[in-house]
Amino acid sequence: MTADAPPATTAKRGTLNARVERIVDHTSDTRSLFLSLTSGKHLRFVPGQFISITIPLGDETRSRPYSVASDPEDRGPFEICFNRVAGGRGVAWLFDLRLGDTLDFSGPFGAFTIDRPPEAELGFIAEGTAIAPLRPMLKRALASSSAHKIHLIYAAPDSDHILYAADLDAFARTAPNFSFETVIAAPENIYDRLFDLADARWVSADADRTRHFYICGVGKGVIRLRDLLRGAGYERRAVHYEQW
Ligand SMILES: Cc1cc2nc3c(=O)[nH]c(=O)nc-3n(C[C@H](O)[C@H](O)[C@H](O)COP(=O)(O)OP(=O)(O)OC[C@H]3O[C@@H](n4cnc5c(N)ncnc54)[C@H](O)[C@@H]3O)c2cc1C
Repeated sequence: MTADAPPATTAKRGTLNARVERIVDHTSDTRSLFLSLTSGKHLRFVPGQFISITIPLGDETRSRPYSVASDPEDRGPFEICFNRVAGGRGVAWLFDLRLGDTLDFSGPFGAFTIDRPPEAELGFIAEGTAIAPLRPMLKRALASSSAHKIHLIYAAPDSDHILYAADLDAFARTAPNFSFETVIAAPENIYDRLFDLADARWVSADADRTRHFYICGVGKGVIRLRDLLRGAGYERRAVHYEQW
């Protein structure tokens, strides 16, 4: 994980325990778990933060971060959303959880957040389940009174893997300053496509360098996007990213 700023909130260090209240399959390989704290308390977090889940695998225990995909304002269980990964034993364990099972985690953690949106045009870039942290960030930004434009470029290998499409459509219908575009591309081409679109929209199109960006995805493509925008003259601290 990479982030440039200090944590937005002080992390809670203790281990928390949560129960699986609901399971939603978005596709055959992408699932959301809705979790409630067994203490009965409400999880407090800032949009964009993640929890670190303890995953017991035989004699080994892993800790894996998963972003909170729901809004801090939601009452009831909070959501994490994840996809199967080739050879990924940690996430396979999450897929094996059933209703009523419990898990341990720590957090929330992370500085890739939007608490108060910056007074600027915002650009969001995500692929697949990396929309998870951006969804509550987008909602927070849209809830502010700012009229600045907000645009999301969201890529997936097929339209079924464009997650939360109904939410994105609803945002676009109700918020005149919000727009989004989806990109369907083979996994090996996704970051090339995102790079070209970000370049066309935010680098080549004009000389405005006041925008702020939030980029989330898997692997080195995230760093390419970050470097494209920073290299084009956007302020370093205005280009936020989280690499999985
Ligand atoms: C801050 C942070 C937040 C994260 N939030 C989420 C989340 O909300 N949802 C989610 O699905 N994952 C998320 N991840 C990734 C997650 O923590 C695990 O890395 C992933 O589930 C694979 O874990 P594993 O132990 O099964 O496999 P590992 O053996 O640890 O990973 C195998 C490979 O898969 C790659 N990988 C990681 N995530 C993905 C992915 N989503 N799709 C394809 N390849 C991937 C890794 O880079 C690694 O090379 C997050 C990672 C970070 C750093």
